[in-house]
Amino acid sequence: MTHFFRSFKTKVTIVFILAMFIAGAVNNFLIYEYSIRSQFEQLRRSIKVLAQTMALQLNAGNILNIPLNESGVATEEYKDAVRKLSSVGKAAPSIAYIYVLRSTEKPGIYKFVIDLHSGTGKQALPPALPGKGYDGSRFSAIGEAFNGPSADDKIVTDEWGVFLSGYAPIRDKSGKTIAILGIDFKAKEVYNLQKEVRIRAAIILFLGVLFSVIVGILLSGGVTNRINKLVEGIRHISKGDLSYRVKVGGDDEIRELARAFNHMAVNLHASREKLVNYFYRVVESLIRILEARDPYTKGHSDRVSKYSEKIALEMGLPPKDVETLREAALLHDIGKLGVHEIVLNKKMELTKDEREEIRKHPSIGEEILKPVSSDKNILQVIREHHERYDGKGYPDGLTGEKINPLAAIVSVADSYDAMTSHRAYRTDLTKDAAMEQLKENSGIQFDPKVVDAFIKVMKDEKGASV
Ligand code: FE
Repeated sequence: MTHFFRSFKTKVTIVFILAMFIAGAVNNFLIYEYSIRSQFEQLRRSIKVLAQTMALQLNAGNILNIPLNESGVATEEYKDAVRKLSSVGKAAPSIAYIYVLRSTEKPGIYKFVIDLHSGTGKQALPPALPGKGYDGSRFSAIGEAFNGPSADDKIVTDEWGVFLSGYAPIRDKSGKTIAILGIDFKAKEVYNLQKEVRIRAAIILFLGVLFSVIVGILLSGGVTNRINKLVEGIRHISKGDLSYRVKVGGDDEIRELARAFNHMAVNLHASREKLVNYFYRVVESLIRILEARDPYTKGHSDRVSKYSEKIALEMGLPPKDVETLREAALLHDIGKLGVHEIVLNKKMELTKDEREEIRKHPSIGEEILKPVSSDKNILQVIREHHERYDGKGYPDGLTGEKINPLAAIVSVADSYDAMTSHRAYRTDLTKDAAMEQLKENSGIQFDPKVVDAFIKVMKDEKGASV
C-alpha cells in the first residue's frame, strides 16, 4: 500500500484528479453563478418593474381610505383597487397573489389592505380581509419596498408554493410611502431549472473527474511504462547482461536517461572485456609456467580443453556452459604449480606423502584462481575434476550427480588424454585401449552420460578421418 502511494503513477494520477476537480468546480461556479444568477437577476428586475407598474395604478389616497377591518371590502375604494389589480393579474397568469400591505408600529409586522388570489387551482388559504395581520419579518425585501421597488433575493418554497416575490411602494402626492404592493410570482419552473442546472453541473463535474482519472492513468501509464523499461535495463545489467540496451521512445528527460544508461552499459561492457582479456593473459602465463615445470603436461591442457568442448557440444550444453568448460579445462591442473617439481617429475612409484601432495592440486588450483576469477563454476570444475562417479575420488569424495557436470566432463577428457600421452610414471596406451578403459570404468569412475557422449565424438572423428 505504501508502495502504491510512493509510485510515480499514483502521484501523477492524483495531481490530474485534483487539477480536474478544480477545473470542474470553477466551471460549475461559472455556469451557475454567471449564467443562472444573471438570469435570476433579470427575473427579479422584471418582477420589480411589474410591481412598480401595478403600484403606480393605485391611488394612495383611496388606499388610505379603506378601513382596516372586514367592512373595508364593501368600500368603493377597495372594489376599484381590486378591479385594477385583477385586470393586470389576468394579463400576467404567472402571478399567483397580489396584495397591498400597510406597516404597523412593529417592524416586520404588516396589515393587509387588499389580498387578491389571481391564480387558479387549490389555494392554501382564503384571501385575507383588510386589517389582517401578516408577519413579514422573514422577508427583508418587504421593508426595503418602502424606499423603492425590491424583490426577494431567493426563491421561497413554503406552504403556499414556490414563489419569487417583488414589492413596490405606493406613494402619495408628496412622495411618502403609505403602503406597499406585493406580487408573488410563480417560480416553480425557474426553481426546477435552477435545480436541473445544478444537477447538470454535478454531472459535468463527475464526468470531468472520471475523464481526468482515465486520462491520468493513461498518461502516467505512458511515463511509468518507459521508466519500467529503464528499471528492466538496470536489472539486466545487474545480472551481468552488459549487451542489454534500453529502447525508449519520445524526446524528453526519460529518453536522455535511457541514452545515458546505454552509454554506461557500453562502457561497462568495454571495461569487462578488458578485465576478461587480462584474466586470459594471466591464465596463459600460468599455463606456460606449469608446462615449463612439467614437460609431460605440455599440450595436455589444450587437448583436455578441446576434448571437453567436443563432449559438451555432443551433450547439447548451452553455449555459456561450453565457454565456461573450455576455460576451466584449460586451467584444470593449474594447482600443480603448488606441487614440488621433484614429485611431479618422479619416475618411480610415489610414496604415500607424495601421493597426498599430488592430490592437493585441485584445491590448490581453486585457491590460485579465486582472486582472478569471479566465476564460481570454473572454480568448482577445477576443484572437482578428480572426483569419481562412485565417490572414491578427491578432494571431497562426491558421488554421481553431486559432482559438477562440467567437472565430470573434464574428468573423462583428462583421463583419456593422460592414457594416450606420455607420462612420467607410465607409457601411453593406444586410443582404442584408452576408450576400452573408459567404457570399463563408466558408471564407476566416470559419469556414463559423459562416456557415451565421448564415444560418439570419437566415432564421428574416426568416421570423418576415414
Ligand atoms: Fe589433474
